[in-house]
Amino acid sequence: MNSETLEASLRQVVGGSNVIAGPQDGPALVVRPGTTEAVAECLKLFHEHQAPVVTLGGLTGLVHGTHTPSHYFGISTERLNKIESFDPSTRLLVVGAGTKLEAVHDFAAEHELRYGVDLGARGSCTIGGNIATNAGGNSVIRFGMTRSNVVGLEVVLSDGSILTDLRGLPKNNAGYDLKQMFIGSEGTLGVVTKALLKLGPRPAGTASVLLALNHLNSALTVMEALERGCGHSLLALEIMWNRYFEKVSTALSEETPPLPSGHPVYLLAQVEGMDSGEQAVDSLVGALEGIDDIIDSALATTPVQESRLWSIRDGSDVIERAHKHVLSFDVSMRPHNYAAYIADVEARLKARISDAVAYYFGHLADGNIHFMIGHDGSSSDATRIIEECVYDALAYYEPSSISAEHGIGREKAAHLWRSRSTVEIAAMNRIRVALDPAGILNPHISYEPRIF
Ligand SMILES: Cc1cc2nc3c(=O)[nH]c(=O)nc-3n(C[C@H](O)[C@H](O)[C@H](O)COP(=O)(O)OP(=O)(O)OC[C@H]3O[C@@H](n4cnc5c(N)ncnc54)[C@H](O)[C@@H]3O)c2cc1C
Repeated sequence: MNSETLEASLRQVVGGSNVIAGPQDGPALVVRPGTTEAVAECLKLFHEHQAPVVTLGGLTGLVHGTHTPSHYFGISTERLNKIESFDPSTRLLVVGAGTKLEAVHDFAAEHELRYGVDLGARGSCTIGGNIATNAGGNSVIRFGMTRSNVVGLEVVLSDGSILTDLRGLPKNNAGYDLKQMFIGSEGTLGVVTKALLKLGPRPAGTASVLLALNHLNSALTVMEALERGCGHSLLALEIMWNRYFEKVSTALSEETPPLPSGHPVYLLAQVEGMDSGEQAVDSLVGALEGIDDIIDSALATTPVQESRLWSIRDGSDVIERAHKHVLSFDVSMRPHNYAAYIADVEARLKARISDAVAYYFGHLADGNIHFMIGHDGSSSDATRIIEECVYDALAYYEPSSISAEHGIGREKAAHLWRSRSTVEIAAMNRIRVALDPAGILNPHISYEPRIF
């Protein structure tokens, strides 16, 4: 690879001002193409020069997917940020991959509609990044993950060819549904340049409730009651264990937290009313009536009240600041295994790294626990030991996954074998080689089988 020639050619394609310095922990040089055709020209050049390249969206990914050695080149989707077209009759929206998730929400709201994917990083993350990671978020229980909300894609392949399926047909079994292969592929199979998103009707109002419970089994009882009583109007059902709730709720504001801490488990549920906000409240209150396991509750019926409750669930950055080192995890398993798994992790941590403190929270109904483990020691082995405590325990609660929704990235590549069989990993690598024979797309994200 002659990087000077390559750099000069890239400047010709995107213009000198769109070749910029890369982010910390990433490629030294980044190009910012403004059209799909320019992305294709850049990829042709990278392909020709066998240069490793990483796609950069909003850089909010939690598994170091954009952290590369500095000799990589970056393709930023920053300028591919246009709302391209909208068809009100089908409610299908075409956006550039660099469009922020929040911009899609704003557009939908202006048209009295909504987009089903929502997550805490909405102001910074891009639709392309959501697609590359198949992002989940708070409303998976209602709308599924990103793949359920994307009905078409435009992707530039590693050799610069442009694969387009923006037809948006609800049914199309004429051959493989190729878009599904790119969703969740973390930039290893192509660069997503446009997406066709499905918008839906906007509810007239929502209501949320925060519940304090004595036991995890009570959370499962409440989950069943809400699913039965609220049906499709249940938008979110999140869980926080006391250590997380206490730390975040007391740090967030000067006001008294909506519920006192100290109870073992807290649930945060949100319900929608298509016709009115009262409908949401009635549905929520009706579903919870007569459940003895609820120790305390705080109902939120206005957007301000709701955002106060949700700021606790979305306030994990409080934990980031509370310790010198913090590791984040995103595992999935059957919810009835949560209690035993957490007890197992706690015991392992206590035995091996005494100053570690784990804060548990997550998406209850999706079987997805996020947790953060903080420690203040200086052992260079701490990361390895903590990962072993978390992942070795996971093996006893199958079916389980080391990554429910954040992906593999650079951080979890070495643990992929824990959740995927040798045959699955080999198939992933064969697809990769077929679409990217030169191995230039995000090669730092490696799908490695277990090496004995
Ligand atoms: C506060 C906070 C809350 C979060 N909550 C959630 C949550 O609830 N659920 C969840 O799933 N995630 C969550 N995340 C993680 C993160 O926001 C998502 O993974 C998001 O989808 C990444 O989008 P991005 O644009 O920032 O991508 P980046 O971080 O820039 O990139 C992520 C990966 O996608 C690749 N990529 C990016 N754009 C493209 C493209 N156009 N084509 C091909 N590959 C591409 C990159 O190479 C990289 O491997 C959260 C993050 C934060 C900081």
